[in-house]
Parts: sequence; C-alpha cells; structure tokens
Amino acid sequence: MRRVRRLGVMGGTFDPIHYGHLVTAEEAWSQLHLDEVLFVPSGRPPHKKDRESLDPEYRYLMVAIATAENRHFQVSRVEIDRPGLSYTIDTIEELKKVYGTKTDIFFITGADAILEILTWKEPERILEECYLVAATRPGYDLDKLKKALPPRIRKRMDKDGRIIVLEIPSLSISSTDIRERVRTGRSIKYLVPEGIAEFIEKNGFYR
Ligand code: NAP
Repeated sequence: MRRVRRLGVMGGTFDPIHYGHLVTAEEAWSQLHLDEVLFVPSGRPPHKKDRESLDPEYRYLMVAIATAENRHFQVSRVEIDRPGLSYTIDTIEELKKVYGTKTDIFFITGADAILEILTWKEPERILEECYLVAATRPGYDLDKLKKALPPRIRKRMDKDGRIIVLEIPSLSISSTDIRERVRTGRSIKYLVPEGIAEFIEKNGFYR
C-alpha cells in the first residue's frame, strides 16, 4: 500500500524571497518529515490593495532562482496562472486534484498572516483540507495568535494539531526591510541569496 505523501506548500508574496523564507521551508521539511516543499508565490493577493507588489512573473522568477539548488524544493505557477484573486482555499483544492487524495498538505506561512485567517475565504474549510504551519521568530507571543483565533479554530490548534507553530530564528529578516534597504541604498548582502541581490540590482527593483 502506498504511503501518504507529505507535501509542504509554502505560500507567500515573496517580494522578494529571502533567507528567512528558505530556512523556514528547510526547517519545515526536516521537522515535519515532508517529502517536498512547493513554493507558491501569490498571483494577486486578495489583502494587498494598498501597496502594489512586484509583477508576479518577477516574484516567481526570484523564487525559482533562490530554490534551484535544493532538490526537495519546487516552485508552482498555480496562483500566477489562475485568473482573479489568489485565495488559499482555491490553491489547496487545485493542488489536491494534482497530487491526489493520498497527500497530506502542510500550508506554511508567516504567523502574522495566519493571525488574519478569519478574514480569508472559507477558513474552516482550509483547516479541513490541510495543516497550517505558522512560522514565527523565537519569542513570538503565541498567546497573541491563540487569543486572535475564535474558540472553534483554537480548538483545532490545541486538540487536533491542525495549526503547527515553527520557531525560525532567521525570520527577523523581512521582505519589507529588504525593500526599504534597497530604496535607501543599504546592503542586502547575506539577507538574500547572491543571485537574488543581483537580479534586484540588474532590474532596478524597489528603488
Ligand atoms: P503577509 O501578510 O505579507 O505577511 C505576514 C508576515 O508573514 C510577514 O512578516 C511575512 O514576512 C511573513 N511571511 C509571509 N509568507 C511567509 C512564509 N511563507 N514563510 C515565512 N514567513 C512568511 O503575507 P503574504 O505573503 O501576503 O501571504 C501569506 C500567504 O497567505 C500567501 O500564500 C497568501 O496567498 C495567503 N493569504 C490568503 C488569503 C486568502 O485566501 N484570502 C488572505 C491573506 C493571505 P515577509 O514579508 O518577509 O514575507
């Protein structure tokens, strides 16, 4: 009998991707015994109307460059190619069709994003369809996450283990800080892979 595949799905805007994201994915792969981690750059994030993100094709390319040398990392165009806003539930359902029912999906993203889960489309169905992995920096106030979740969802975290928290030291790196550094001419060396720093510089992004 074929065993159940454990698929990590790394969801994010990745504007740009940085070492915090890469370490998160590697840590999830190793701690949760995942078979692979599929990076899914968001196409048109439903919650980001105030700030224009970089063109999805460029964000996708940067994720492809940054993950190329890791054998258990892959990149998906599922949200880039799907018309309309990028809702997580639609992505999970599409991936379930591709990977089949014998796959457990672990949707990995930032804890601050998961704090907002009630504003997402069909949050309870997301929790039916996959595990949520909330990446935090050490010392993150977990009570904040728990208090923000209504009892029915908090129960799934405490009792059913459907929300998993992963502490990632290098998550103090943030895309916002990297964009600000580029804008003000400060170095982003050692915060992003070298190829990404060059790609940003070459294309004049974030200036
Ligand atoms: P965000 O709100 O920009 O990010 C919140 C925090 O989480 C930031 O500190 C961010 O750091 C961090 N973060 C984001 N993705 C991460 C990842 N994969 N690993 C570790 N930290 C991460 O979040 P976002 O990137 O736009 O969205 C996160 C995911 O949630 C996406 O897949 C998005 O499609 C999904 N989402 C879905 C809905 C919906 O279905 N309605 C609504 C909102 C979000 P950085 O800025 O450094 O990445």
